[in-house]
Amino acid sequence: MSMVIGSWVRETSRMTAPATPRVKLRREPKRGRYDRASVDRILDRALVAHIAFVSEGQPFCIPTLCARVGDRALIHGSSASRMLRGLSAGAPACLTATLTDGLVLARSAFEHSINYESAIVLGTLEAVTEPEAKRGALEAFTEKLLPGRWEEVRQPTAKELKATVILSLEIDEASAKVRSGPPETPPEDEDVDVWAGVVPIRTVYGDPVTAPDVAPGTPVSPSVARLPAR
Ligand SMILES: Cc1cc2nc3c(=O)[nH]c(=O)nc-3n(C[C@H](O)[C@H](O)[C@H](O)COP(=O)(O)OP(=O)(O)OC[C@H]3O[C@@H](n4cnc5c(N)ncnc54)[C@H](O)[C@@H]3O)c2cc1C
Repeated sequence: MSMVIGSWVRETSRMTAPATPRVKLRREPKRGRYDRASVDRILDRALVAHIAFVSEGQPFCIPTLCARVGDRALIHGSSASRMLRGLSAGAPACLTATLTDGLVLARSAFEHSINYESAIVLGTLEAVTEPEAKRGALEAFTEKLLPGRWEEVRQPTAKELKATVILSLEIDEASAKVRSGPPETPPEDEDVDVWAGVVPIRTVYGDPVTAPDVAPGTPVSPSVARLPAR
């Protein structure tokens, strides 16, 4: 399958081995995945990613919205942002997306853990400058927040597109790590008489709160109404 948005083409090629030694899992390697589908799924589920980079010798790790279009992870923001300035200048970066799926509650404190999926992408970000690609990126961000929202709202003007910095990171040198399943029970814990198991973590939406400047009686948008039952 391939999908074209702007000038980007999504290739569903599969990485079955780490692209480089830098993204080869050494700790718990059985939890590692290198195929694009696994990395993409995590990037697509995570609303927020953390971007790590070094600026003037100091490491920073900045949370930010992220989206994906085809082979690229996207971040966006204001040109005044140190993060975006530094990354635009070619600082090597590490983007991490994390999903927490369940509390892993063992019989001993030591074995407590969390079920998770996380993805790491290494590389250098590039500025997206072509207006149609920028529009596609803004659409991806809006649809990531809430599917269907893009068509309901005013589209960005040329001036707004110009004021928005969008950077993209090729999903090439990447890894995913997944922990799932019950807690581990070493032999010395087998007789410990306490409940153990997994408590799934779910994201739920609350009731929509209408903005104070919206005209009274304006119905909630279909995209909002379609959100899973609260
Ligand atoms: C929500 C959450 C909670 C965690 N809690 C803990 C904790 O309390 N203690 C702990 O030790 N570890 C925890 N981990 C696992 C942690 O992320 C590391 O995988 C682990 O600490 C090993 O780090 P390392 O640098 O030795 O990895 P290495 O295996 O040496 O890393 C080599 C390469 O493997 C890849 N890699 C490593 N970890 C990840 C990852 N999580 N996702 C994607 N790619 C990865 C990267 O490309 C990295 O460059 C947690 C992970 C998540 C997502």
